[in-house]
Amino acid sequence: MERLQGIAVSPGIAIGEALVLDNEGFRIPRRFLPRDAVEEELERLDRALSAAVAEVEHNRKQVAEQLGDEYAAIFSAHIQMLRDPRLHDEIVEMIRSRHYSPEYAVSRALRRYAKVFQSLEGQYMAERANDIFDIEKRILRNLLGRRREELSQVTSPVLVLAHNLTPSETANLDPRFALGMVTEIGGPGSHTAIVAEGLGIPAIVGVGPFLTDVSGGDTVIIDGDQGQIVLHPDEETLARYRHEVEEQRSLAAKLESLRELPAKTMDGTPIQLLGNIEFPYEVKQCDERGAAGIGLYRTEFIYLGRDDDPSEETHFESYSSVVQAMASKPVVMRTLDLGADKMRSLPDPEDERNPFLGLRSIRLALRNRDLFRIQLRAILRASVLGEIRIMFPLISTILEFRQARMVLSDAMEDLDEAGIPYDKDIKVGMMVEVPSAVMMMDRFVEEVDFFSIGTNDLIQYCLAVDRSNKDVANLYTAADPSVIRMIDMAVTCANNHDVPIGTCGQMCGDPTYTMLLLGLGLRSLSVTPAAVPEIKRVCRSVSISQCREVAQKVLELDSAREIKTFLKEELSKVFPEFPT
Ligand code: PEP
Ligand code: MG
Repeated sequence: MERLQGIAVSPGIAIGEALVLDNEGFRIPRRFLPRDAVEEELERLDRALSAAVAEVEHNRKQVAEQLGDEYAAIFSAHIQMLRDPRLHDEIVEMIRSRHYSPEYAVSRALRRYAKVFQSLEGQYMAERANDIFDIEKRILRNLLGRRREELSQVTSPVLVLAHNLTPSETANLDPRFALGMVTEIGGPGSHTAIVAEGLGIPAIVGVGPFLTDVSGGDTVIIDGDQGQIVLHPDEETLARYRHEVEEQRSLAAKLESLRELPAKTMDGTPIQLLGNIEFPYEVKQCDERGAAGIGLYRTEFIYLGRDDDPSEETHFESYSSVVQAMASKPVVMRTLDLGADKMRSLPDPEDERNPFLGLRSIRLALRNRDLFRIQLRAILRASVLGEIRIMFPLISTILEFRQARMVLSDAMEDLDEAGIPYDKDIKVGMMVEVPSAVMMMDRFVEEVDFFSIGTNDLIQYCLAVDRSNKDVANLYTAADPSVIRMIDMAVTCANNHDVPIGTCGQMCGDPTYTMLLLGLGLRSLSVTPAAVPEIKRVCRSVSISQCREVAQKVLELDSAREIKTFLKEELSKVFPEFPT
């Protein structure tokens, strides 16, 4: 049994068979073969080896012709390795006597060699290890016969273990079959993590390299509460986790009974609990969990997972379906927030060395006004069908907000000219997710109809910590006193000027922070739909005066560790079952 620690990004326990994807998205198949399949599989191995040799030979010839034999030598070395009888015998032996699948045997044998090179010091040795990984991939490509696994095609229950998944690949997982997800890289605030939480499946990111220790079909446990993955669990561990799954089911059933009850604190203060969505189909989940509306619709997902730009009609269809499904409940449409980790293709590294500080979000929209206007027209057209609000992301200066409003006015003019109706009093707000916006709140209050604090980005820009980098994940926390002071400043200013303010970062879906956020003066929280019942339960069990005391105390503390411990203790006073 092996237990590995990663970063917990979506709670819950999942137990099941592993579907393993390497860093090119190849599915690493089952480890064992049926006894009578051995001969056939050996033939398949030899065919794959011959095809790999032919490919490298072709590359060698081309390079030799264009650049000379000296440059082609590397390919000769690859061919030599692919034809090495000792390596061949080793792989065949694993298939014959241990009944390993050819893919697994190839990986085992080659990675053993690569590890030897990796353990030796120096650039030259590191390059040789990379050569071996290259050869491994080439053979696997020939054995598996296709490129990336189509995750949307998975039709039996699995736990997806991958080197990395993009946000749109994650969105393609069907939660009926993908019961959980673990990646080797990725940080706590990445959109991959957020989408996994939205799907409501247990998920862990940033575990570090572990895929060589697991094969398709192995039983694994994902503990999304503790951020641990257990490989090859023993019977006792399995029994313990199965028991925990049962307990979680009964808690979920209890929470369901809250659906129709109001989100009101014990002293009767109403709290607006909204849902965050990425796709129209999530509206159903918001409704089932009792959300009072949509506080954040991440519309940029319309652009991801497709090669061309969506037309105005495509936008309109999605938006109108969401608004109509929500009936008269409010829907906050955040305009496109592309860039950084939400991209269709990788930017040129020469241009984008710091994608989170670069041309992303509203900056990208303002540079592509035609694209932006198409989206705004679609939102405006849908505004007659329900209660829509428009929100601009990543506003960092007043001028930026004004420019965005101007593009909106242009879109309104287009519709006026065409005689198309829209809500002329549509509310226009902004996200507060850059420290500069917090510092300028007293000016923004004059211009905006509402604010929503985006803590996911606010944490990263406040602490200068990349939200999707596992190596600095220890610094990425909402409990940092600087982040809490920023929230306090923003909320106090907005409340003093009677401009509505809410929050929609992942922080407000974590019950640890509910009392603090209410105590700081927030009355509107937009959370991942799965978290609505639990946050409602906390709201209904506390009073505002109690929350104010908690917030006062937190503002006196000076480290994230102290704050987190204090908040967990306070929560466990209300709910003793919460771990401190
Ligand atoms: C945020 O930054 O807090 C937010 C809600 O937006 P996103 O996570 O999509 O950047
Ligand atoms: Mg953001």
